Amino acid sequence: MSNTTARREGKPALNVTLQGIAGSPGIAIGKAYLMEHEVVDVVEKRFVAPKHIRAEVKRFKGAVKKAQKHLKGIIRDVPKEFRDHTYILDAHMMLLKDKMFYDGTIGHIERENVNAEWALKMTVDEVKSIFKKMPDPYFRERATDVVHVSNLVLENLLGTEPSNISDIDKRVIIVAHDLSPAETTQMQLEKVKAFLTDLGGKTSHTGIIARSLEIPAVLGLGNATQQIKTDDLIIVDGSAGVVILDPDEETLTRYEERKDLLEQYQAMITRSSHLPAETTDGFQLSVAANIGLLEEVVSVIDHGGDGIGLYRTEFLYLNRPTLPSEQDLFDNYRDVAEIMAPRTVTIRTLDIGGDKFVSGLELAEEMNPALGLRAIRFSLQSPEIFETQLRAILRAANFGNVRIMIPMISQVDEILEAKQALNQAAESLKKAGIPFKGNIKLGAMIEVPSAVMMADILAKEVDFFSIGTNDLIQYSLAIDRVNKHVAHLYQPLHPAVLRMIQHVVDAAKRAGIEVNMCGEMAGDPLNLPVLLGMELDAISMNPISIPAVKRIARMLSLKESKLFLEEALKRPTTEDVIKLVQDTYGPSFPKAAPFEPNQV
Ligand code: PEP
Ligand code: MG
Repeated sequence: MSNTTARREGKPALNVTLQGIAGSPGIAIGKAYLMEHEVVDVVEKRFVAPKHIRAEVKRFKGAVKKAQKHLKGIIRDVPKEFRDHTYILDAHMMLLKDKMFYDGTIGHIERENVNAEWALKMTVDEVKSIFKKMPDPYFRERATDVVHVSNLVLENLLGTEPSNISDIDKRVIIVAHDLSPAETTQMQLEKVKAFLTDLGGKTSHTGIIARSLEIPAVLGLGNATQQIKTDDLIIVDGSAGVVILDPDEETLTRYEERKDLLEQYQAMITRSSHLPAETTDGFQLSVAANIGLLEEVVSVIDHGGDGIGLYRTEFLYLNRPTLPSEQDLFDNYRDVAEIMAPRTVTIRTLDIGGDKFVSGLELAEEMNPALGLRAIRFSLQSPEIFETQLRAILRAANFGNVRIMIPMISQVDEILEAKQALNQAAESLKKAGIPFKGNIKLGAMIEVPSAVMMADILAKEVDFFSIGTNDLIQYSLAIDRVNKHVAHLYQPLHPAVLRMIQHVVDAAKRAGIEVNMCGEMAGDPLNLPVLLGMELDAISMNPISIPAVKRIARMLSLKESKLFLEEALKRPTTEDVIKLVQDTYGPSFPKAAPFEPNQV
């Protein structure tokens, strides 16, 4: 047994399993390193005499400057291989000077005559409550960015030292209550084997960075920092979201074998990730990527993505006091189109609503934001914002193979109105003599049950469908996609979900249009036989899932998958469908991908 796996002599192994959220795949075995943070929540309120207010404002400004300097230092010292990830730190730099954050805190000091720490806490509480009401989990989790940035300023105000991951000198598994993007970016692969956090979810920046750095991570463990001590031996299974504390011999051996298998497998699939996903009987499935940032395009190409099936365009509207200009959007979309050309880039129009994070977007609070003014509903009510984005996409289309996709369609009128807006945008560009590509493909996301039922009518109006299972499952099974209490009921292989997908595919095929899937369901190899059996034209997923999915597609045949699907559609429960997958493919899949049958 290696040193890292030596347990304390004489004590029985605890072998405690902790379940969290699978943040980034991979297995790591090693010693824990507990990062302890100052509890910055405990801030005292002091009244400041009017004659000292100016000095208090100055103290706050000084702390912000120092925080900027600290971030600049981290950005400067980031090793070359981490450079792709400094955009989050750039966003944090901007957030420090954000109107709501900076002017808001100064306003509190001046109006309420309070100390800078308390004024900052008031601002953070306000901003947090705004972010928390956002319908999209991605945006909700951006509240943590505000907390990370304010912690930096608070540490300066309180005179405490910011934690420094780069001080760690052994190869460890970091265990932290939460990790800021600044801290995650400082991680050095040769020192950090994996990390665990009490907080955070799949769409937190920490998770996003971990996946791009390919460091195994388990997030949202709740109270791991109270259960794990520095030097404890732990196993991290980032794919299953599992942590085993103080494992026994048998568990250790099992995971060491799985780790070896996984590493061999990853090396093998990466070598073949650029080959097409062609089944044994010659059907070519396009395996594309979902991205949210321009910077991820490199990872798409590295992992053999056949295109971009979903570009979530919300990020450019974040962390800024004003809306992005047409030029800002155009520059970004053009870069993605150019780098990916001749491969397809599917740009989804803004999927946002019910929030106030950009000045000028003052919307009412909503009781049920997931059912509220989001996505296309928001765009149609904000024609100027919509037109700016459509013009930018049409202009960028001149530089590659760009398609446009409309989210959250629930009735055909929305597609008709979106088409009208697209025609108007093209007309205005033409009038102004600005070059653009007019006849680009337009698609509808199918993620609301009413769109499933109307698929035959919708199919006459668009060039392609893309099934967004993340929302489709949420809306059809009545399961909040971010509520961990009902997470066990969120089942992609639920017979009702399968029937809906089949219904959409049938409608698309009858109308002769392309049908894709871009929900997370597409990235899990367990679901591949069913999706292949449906003969979807393309599926898109997180870039790192691409090599494994492509590899498994190459082992299957379309003909057999169709027969398999027929059987699967007869099964009455999710458990029956999963059992069928395991009985049929279990013996052959593990040789190709050492995954455990997923908890759907
Ligand atoms: C979906 O709903 O499946 C989807 C891909 O969109 P998002 O996750 O951005 O809502
Ligand atoms: Mg969606």
